[in-house]
Order: sequence, then structure tokens, then C-alpha cells
Amino acid sequence: MLTANEHYRSVFGCKMYKASISFAKSCPNRDGTKGTGGCIFCSAGGSGEFSAARDKTITRQIDEAISLVERKAGPDAGYIAYFQSFTNTYCSPDELALALDEAMAHPRIKALSIATRPDCLPDKILEVISEKSSEMPVYVELGLQTSNDQTAKLINRCYETKDYDDAVRRLKEIGVNVITHVIFGLPGETEEKMMESVRHCVKAGTDGIKFTCLYVLKDTALEKMWRAGEFEVLGEEEYFDIVEKAIELLPPDTVVHRLTGDGPKKLLLAPMWTADKRGVINYINRRFAK
Ligand code: SF4
Repeated sequence: MLTANEHYRSVFGCKMYKASISFAKSCPNRDGTKGTGGCIFCSAGGSGEFSAARDKTITRQIDEAISLVERKAGPDAGYIAYFQSFTNTYCSPDELALALDEAMAHPRIKALSIATRPDCLPDKILEVISEKSSEMPVYVELGLQTSNDQTAKLINRCYETKDYDDAVRRLKEIGVNVITHVIFGLPGETEEKMMESVRHCVKAGTDGIKFTCLYVLKDTALEKMWRAGEFEVLGEEEYFDIVEKAIELLPPDTVVHRLTGDGPKKLLLAPMWTADKRGVINYINRRFAK
């Protein structure tokens, strides 16, 4: 495996930071097109509580995101415009092109990262992404979470794993860098099922992977299941044991973009160790430092 830093340095020659952008208004798993209520773990903010408000222009959102990290990042850092919340290709090709153009026009932006669902990549949208990727590196982040279709039904993902396989193939055909999101600790998933998801992503040809420990947020369907005792969240050591095994399954050139995620503190119910960002970073440094 490669770390994200190693990857970015080799591609851009500098440290890269993400400037989160709130662009998409919803997702087809919330508005009834594919499902209602969304994935059971997803909060009303659509996995993007940290994004700046959507009513600001993309340029302003980027400026504000940069100003938050600029002192730490220094003048040589590069930035990735990260279209994070909801499903960012769930719009017309023209709307997407306009949004990407605005981000690309920002002088500090060196790459685009677009979070979406595999079932929201019709040909016209791929044409836009392909066109932009000829001007600037583009990453497309796919929320797979699990390759197990039974778990996918349980979490109300509302697309099949074969849709993911198809999306990875089509994105790779246009030369886009694919990052897959996988969640460990989903209800009913054994460690073997989690490893199977990782093997599946590798076989599909993902370039990178983001691991996240399942966390329970307020006012989600997952909260009800958790309160009813239908599953238990993973402990810190238990989670990173799984991550360590997952990393062993990755080819040397697969980029690990994230070892775990942290949910919005004001909504987080469990596991609380994920809220201790500094503690988690220290733990990761002790355990995974090369
Ligand atoms: S995780 Fe993504 S696809 Fe699922 S409900 Fe949230 S925004 Fe929609």
C-alpha cells in the first residue's frame, strides 16, 4: 500500500489538502428515486457535515476551506476541491460541468475529487468527468461500504455490487482515479465478510481505498438498531486489527486515503473513541508508522 501523502507527493510534488465543497442537494437514496430515508448510517447532512454552506459560491467555499488550514499547510501546499456531501453527480451534466469549472478556475486547486454513488454515473456525466480529467487529475470516490449484497440491503444502499463493478470499469476506461469507501463493523458482518469487501475492491481495480469504522449518528435508522441492541460497535483496537488485516490484502500501489473517519461530534453516539481525533491519530502513529 501507499499512503495518501506518498501518492500525492509523487503526483503533485507537494502535500495536498482537501477543500470540502457542499454542492449536491440530495441523493437518489433519499428523494425516492432509488430509496427513501437514505443509507441507515447517513445523517440528514449526507455525509458532509463539515462542508461549508451550500448557498455560498464554490469559489468562496474553497477560499474558506483553505483559510482554515493555510497556516498549518504553508504556501507550497496544494488543494483538492472535494465535492463531498450527498451524491455529486446526481445533477445534469451542465450543472456538474459548471461546478467543476468553477473549482478548477480557483488558483490553489490542483485536483478534483467527486464523491458519488456508482449508480449515478450515466454516460453524459462520464463525458463531463472525462473532459475535466484531461485538464486536471480527477478522483471519483464511490461509497461501496460492503461488497455483500445482503448487507447492502440491510443498510438500504439501494444499488447492487455489480453496479459498483461496472462503475469502476467505466471510470478506469476514461482514466479517472477511483477511490472506494468501505465501512467495517456493519451489522451482521463478520471479519471474513469485511475482508471479502476489500478483496472485491482490489479485484474490481480500485486505485485507492478509504476505511471507516461504522459510527452511530443521532436520528438515523442505525441509531434505532443500536439502541435495540441489534449490533455492537467496534472498539478501537478491534477496529484497527481489522484494518491491519485489510491492508495486507492490498497491492503495493493501492493508496490508502483514510484509516478511519470521524463523525460530526454533535451527532455522534458511538463509538466515542472515534471522536477523540488526536487520540486516534496518536494510536495510528504508534501502530502504523513506517
Ligand atoms: S451515504 Fe450517500 S448514498 Fe447513502 S444516503 Fe447518504 S448521501 Fe445518499
